[in-house]
Amino acid sequence: MRLKDKVAIITGAGSGIGRQSAIRFAEEGAKLILADLNKNGVRETIEQLVAGTEAEFVAVDVSKAAEVRAMVEHAETRFGRLDVMFNNAGIMPDADSSVIHTSEDVWDLVINVNLKGVFLGCQYGIPTMLKSGGGSIINVASFVALMGAATPQIAYTASKGGVLSMTREIAVEFARQGIRANALCPGPVRTPLLEELLSESKARARRMVHIPMGRLAEGQEIANAVVFLASDESSYVNGATFVVDGGITAAYVTPE
Ligand code: NAD
Repeated sequence: MRLKDKVAIITGAGSGIGRQSAIRFAEEGAKLILADLNKNGVRETIEQLVAGTEAEFVAVDVSKAAEVRAMVEHAETRFGRLDVMFNNAGIMPDADSSVIHTSEDVWDLVINVNLKGVFLGCQYGIPTMLKSGGGSIINVASFVALMGAATPQIAYTASKGGVLSMTREIAVEFARQGIRANALCPGPVRTPLLEELLSESKARARRMVHIPMGRLAEGQEIANAVVFLASDESSYVNGATFVVDGGITAAYVTPE
């Protein structure tokens, strides 16, 4: 098993990429702290873990320092160490749009959850990881940290750019102390919400024209990359912009 006895915190574990990663981490033998605002979501995640997995829910708002500190303390009290910090929780509100239309409140909300949330996860996670000799930090950015879109989500895009550059700096600062930090940049993942948005064939065609593989990612395909970055198999991968996007950022023109 690739994560045997590793202790991992997954934020945003009640849905999507966080849930799929929890399922894969459990299959690979990790002990899990599953953190989210949404208790019912995490309960459903726990029901899908391989039998015998040691997993606990912790209620957290990743934008609140005291709650993130308590989440890390909980991992340490419960399991005695921390090996993997997967800062995954993120939001994408509808009201986040063009720079000229996005309100200050929406900007603050998105930056607080998506960027400050990752900062706090690193701020409290790293000292605990150092006590047990290091570990792996995986911060979720996005392909939009690397490319612009004409249908903008300005705060979301800025938050993900921040995650990317912050992760690089953390990777450099702590490399000699046994901590690796990488920014995961997923392409669009097939979720019920996105499926609904793309149910109309014109909207689907407009989106698919940018994806060389001609389809969205499955959550498990992103989770497989997270397992690699969490495990010792990626022992020389540090400070990477780890793109899992079906070739979107490589494309100039895609096949018909
Ligand atoms: P999702 O909405 O399915 O799940 C996000 C989870 O985070 C939810 O369970 C939610 O309750 C939780 N959450 C939200 N705000 C929180 C907070 N303040 N504190 C704690 N938990 C909170 O999202 P997803 O699609 O699985 O996305 C996960 C990450 O991947 C996000 O950072 C997102 O930006 C990023 N991402 C997603 C895609 C995609 O297409 N789905 C693409 C690129 C990047």
